[in-house]
Amino acid sequence: MGGDAILIAGAGIGGLTAALALQRKGVRVRVFEQAPALGEVGAGLQISANGTRVLHALGLERALEEIAWMPAGKEVRLWYTGETWPLFDLGLVSVERYGFPYVMVHRADFHAVLAAAVRERDPDAISLGARCIGVAQDEAGVTLTLAGGETVRGKALIGADGVHSAIRAALFGPDKPKFTGCMAWRGLIPAERLPRHLLRPAGTNWVGPGGHIVHYFVRGGALLNFVGVRERADWTVESWTAAGTVEECLADFKGWHDDIQTMIRNIDTPYKWALMGRDPMPRWCVGRVGLLGDACHPMLPFLAQGAVMAIEDGYVLAACLEAHRDVPAALRAFEDIRRERTTRTVLGSAANTRLFHSPMLAGREAAQRFVAENWHPDRIAERYEWLFSHDATRIPPPAPARVH
Ligand SMILES: Cc1cc2nc3c(=O)[nH]c(=O)nc-3n(C[C@H](O)[C@H](O)[C@H](O)COP(=O)(O)OP(=O)(O)OC[C@H]3O[C@@H](n4cnc5c(N)ncnc54)[C@H](O)[C@@H]3O)c2cc1C
Repeated sequence: MGGDAILIAGAGIGGLTAALALQRKGVRVRVFEQAPALGEVGAGLQISANGTRVLHALGLERALEEIAWMPAGKEVRLWYTGETWPLFDLGLVSVERYGFPYVMVHRADFHAVLAAAVRERDPDAISLGARCIGVAQDEAGVTLTLAGGETVRGKALIGADGVHSAIRAALFGPDKPKFTGCMAWRGLIPAERLPRHLLRPAGTNWVGPGGHIVHYFVRGGALLNFVGVRERADWTVESWTAAGTVEECLADFKGWHDDIQTMIRNIDTPYKWALMGRDPMPRWCVGRVGLLGDACHPMLPFLAQGAVMAIEDGYVLAACLEAHRDVPAALRAFEDIRRERTTRTVLGSAANTRLFHSPMLAGREAAQRFVAENWHPDRIAERYEWLFSHDATRIPPPAPARVH
């Protein structure tokens, strides 16, 4: 097989978005996914307007509409009284303000939409059971090595292989994550098991001392996605598939509002994920090999932007590869365009831990003051406006070549 294709390691959200964006420009891509079958874990994903803007530009508006749940807004609730404050309006307000909706989707539904779009353009674009283990490069291209020894030649390699990226390790050496002292419980609850008052069309962020909970509906309102974050030092496995028990999850949220107890009791299998912190990387492209998404800027899920940043990355990467004839120059331009924004998102996500878990939230009066101050519309705008209003589809033109 000739070496004219762009190779992508990982058929996750970032890898498939990049593949589709490149295909739409007439570029041949080959995506190598370690899993033997395509699929995603049972969990929800929030995609804010800056992400749906990119997905619409990639022709996915209709497909997204079919799988999305669009909340009217988001609200903050206090962990033990259930008092409620508005966070921000969504629904038509998001469309009016940013031109694009804020949607909640089931990861598996969204992943299937991306994979179908890529396969529609090229049924052989995605190779499964193909674990990438190493890469070498020369002036003309890259050679990707798969587990089993097969090698594949291409014009460039994009490591979209997630938080435990093998391509990142090949470029920059072993990962050095720091445990944040937080773990996340994840679960899905069939809507018919919930009392009426919990069926309101709002995304909710409960805040409390040492923990917070986010919940919203997916699959058109049929399932409630629950994510409960707790500060605890005894769970350090970063995995989508490690299961815990309802009893353990209930113990972590003892004393929290009855609505929370009801939700947890109705989760069949709660999964646990240790939240690791990683410093932003100053560089993530070397010659013809680059990274995107969680492979280069993994972040805590406290701004709900990890997948959205991977989506933005995929679009910008394709635009840079189109704008520059020289692959290394294209990858440098991609990194330059994305560095500041993704770094700010990594740091902003980590900073939200202090806000969501503040000890000030323990007592009622102090909590009311704390929420009124920190969830004041001006503070909310400072934290989110720059994220949601961003247009990743407007790519700055390439800088003119320097004259020596
Ligand atoms: C609890 C929780 C809630 C979250 N909620 C949100 C949210 O609401 N909104 C949001 O935007 N983000 C959210 N995120 C973040 C989001 O899940 C990630 O940022 C996103 O999945 C990153 O996409 P990616 O394509 O870079 O990596 P991944 O989705 O991890 O995909 C990587 C792919 O590469 C494959 N792979 C790995 N190694 C290899 C290899 N060596 N060879 C071949 N293939 C390989 C994997 O199997 C996988 O398919 C959340 C995260 C967590 C933990």
